[in-house]
Amino acid sequence: MQTTISKASSAMVSLPCSRGRSGLCVWPGMRQLCFRKGLLYGFMQLLSVPLKSLRGAASRSLEVSQFCSVSKISASLQIELVPCLRDNYAYLLHDVDTGTVGVVDPSEAVPVIDALSKKNRNLTYILNTHHHHDHTGGNAELKARYGAKVIGSGIDRDRIPGIDIVLNDGDKWMFAGHEVHVMGTPGHTKGHISFYFPGSGSIFTGDTLFSLSCGKLFEGTPDQMQSSLTKIMSLPDDTEVYFGHEYTLSNSKFALSIEPENEELQSYAARVAHLRSKGVPTVPTTLLLEKTCNPFLRTSSTEIRQSLNISASASEAEALGVIRQAKDTF
Ligand SMILES: [Zn+2]
Repeated sequence: MQTTISKASSAMVSLPCSRGRSGLCVWPGMRQLCFRKGLLYGFMQLLSVPLKSLRGAASRSLEVSQFCSVSKISASLQIELVPCLRDNYAYLLHDVDTGTVGVVDPSEAVPVIDALSKKNRNLTYILNTHHHHDHTGGNAELKARYGAKVIGSGIDRDRIPGIDIVLNDGDKWMFAGHEVHVMGTPGHTKGHISFYFPGSGSIFTGDTLFSLSCGKLFEGTPDQMQSSLTKIMSLPDDTEVYFGHEYTLSNSKFALSIEPENEELQSYAARVAHLRSKGVPTVPTTLLLEKTCNPFLRTSSTEIRQSLNISASASEAEALGVIRQAKDTF
């Protein structure tokens, strides 16, 4: 799988990355992907490799994949990040084989239209993780312009603007030949769903799971959020997580405040600070990284429990509730 970054913030560049072109695209998201994959090659090494040496190969995507240790080389699903509003991310899904395009959580229409127009693409589907306006604000305009079908949770059928296709926990849906598993992940809202693409090992978690945090419990309980996160954590460790907001830097400060001795967290927090200082998104993260560093997935951590005076006998959900309260007032 390739991750491309477009529509960008001022610090980002947008490069053509269609398969038909020769040459290797080097863009912030891929550099970031390389970081995240933990790789043999570092950031400067990547930049220093002459593009020419990567040209002329039988498969450019294979070259990119080898270079960045991306395992999903056969996947034809491209994921393109579209920054929206202040800190939201929408994601364009592009099936290379059919040209089918979907968008996950379009906060607003204009950045999505811009990203589509740059590549002269249409829009077939709008996927919403939940009903909040900063995830559905672009639905009506995009639907009117492209005739795209809006997909959302049955629980939110009266709250998601323009909803056409209702999906529920456990449903499987096909996006241009890519199987999509719908996972009910309530807690932030009662109808929140996440979209898992097993073929490319990617999950879109909306406001359920962020890097180093989880969503606020507006409509759900700590038990529900704990259950939702456990469900997500049951996926393979190398699953790439595409989340709804760029909160990672501030999340890292909270996480460090309650688990300062976590060396993996220290390292990741430093990397996040570097990325954000350059305006580079922290998407995607991986489940393994989150298991290692995200306090909401580490409710049994002795250090976290001691930091927040959570008794050793408290349940995971009770601990999560205390961590969430502490984060809300951090
Ligand atoms: Zn939300």
